[in-house]
Amino acid sequence: METFDVAIVGAGPAGSSCAAFCSLAGLRTLVLERETFPREKVCGDCLNPSSWPVLDRLHLVQRVRTLPHAKLGSVEFIAISGRRVIIDLSSGEESEIAIKRSLFDMLLMSRARELGTQVYEETTVTALTSNNGWTIETARGATFAARTLVGADGRNSTVARLCNLLPRPARERVALQAHIPLPPGFGDRIVLQFLSEGYSGQAPVNHDELNLCLVSNPSKLPALRHWAEKQFGLQQDYQWHTITPLTRAALAPARDKLFLVGDAARVVEPFTGEGIYYALRSAELAAQAIVKVIRGNHDVDPASEYAEAHAAIYRGRLWINRLARAAVLSPRITSFLIHVARTQPILRSLTAKIVTPQL
Ligand SMILES: Cc1cc2nc3c(=O)[nH]c(=O)nc-3n(C[C@H](O)[C@H](O)[C@H](O)COP(=O)(O)OP(=O)(O)OC[C@H]3O[C@@H](n4cnc5c(N)ncnc54)[C@H](O)[C@@H]3O)c2cc1C
Repeated sequence: METFDVAIVGAGPAGSSCAAFCSLAGLRTLVLERETFPREKVCGDCLNPSSWPVLDRLHLVQRVRTLPHAKLGSVEFIAISGRRVIIDLSSGEESEIAIKRSLFDMLLMSRARELGTQVYEETTVTALTSNNGWTIETARGATFAARTLVGADGRNSTVARLCNLLPRPARERVALQAHIPLPPGFGDRIVLQFLSEGYSGQAPVNHDELNLCLVSNPSKLPALRHWAEKQFGLQQDYQWHTITPLTRAALAPARDKLFLVGDAARVVEPFTGEGIYYALRSAELAAQAIVKVIRGNHDVDPASEYAEAHAAIYRGRLWINRLARAAVLSPRITSFLIHVARTQPILRSLTAKIVTPQL
């Protein structure tokens, strides 16, 4: 059996970009993905401008821009009362866009393949053994061996669960997502709309479709869904994708020959639209650490180095995430703040902080 330098579980933005960076560095790289691509994913589809530099290092900027997408010009906050505050986003090359995850994730996976990664789709990882490296078993009975392992398998990470790292599932909020026909005159806005049942995020993803997300407690979800059906004229049997939890404890992102990237390591509040950036950047940092592990040319332990660098990406931004979580957990208070914000610059500064490009 061939032994790979690195096996990566999951081909979302974290897994595929980690694979692409590892392959670029010459490592024998394997990706195991449960689904068949292209596939949609519960997400607001908004790409934070901080993602561009990472995509540039993968030579993907132009290829992303040639895929169908929408350039986003403003964020509109809507309070429960219907009161609105509109904040302009920066325009130009570094602007925020929305792009369907079926297209974006497929492009990243194709890039990893082009660079030499072996990708197996429809391959669910079910068991792991650590033996000075890793043996990985899949639902279809295949076995793979690798010197290092990356959990890039999202917020309900099987890798973390099989390594006894995942906290017990708590009763948490649920998200629904669908692409619906773009309402006439919707424009180039992201809408963040607070309702007594929870909140809704809306963004155009091309000339014809709107990404519609609903987030709520399970008990209020039917009412929120009913609101969306009325608001957007949807049939009751409209097909929604769903995911939970929206929040969970962060995990230590590295230990010895195991690395966690993207949502598998830390989940952020979707409201801020930063999850894909964190997935891409944490994957790049993990790839740098894995190259050091494989080549053995390091003074400092690469796992500790990755853990430090991982913490640094979030440092200084977690308070925004906490604030966002508090906001969406208390839509009434947030709605009051939207009223106040008509005369105060707070929402403007927060939005600017979220969409200012990092590294
Ligand atoms: C409602 C909502 C809205 C959001 N909106 C935005 C937004 O607008 N902008 C933004 O940047 N972020 C947003 N996010 C966050 C964003 O979706 C995530 O941060 C991002 O998808 C994380 O990427 P990832 O690669 O870590 O994980 P994922 O995208 O979850 O990918 C994990 C992959 O692992 C695979 N997998 C899982 N288990 C196994 C297994 N056992 N074996 C093999 N493969 C497996 C899955 O099939 C999947 O393809 C939103 C999240 C939610 C819930």
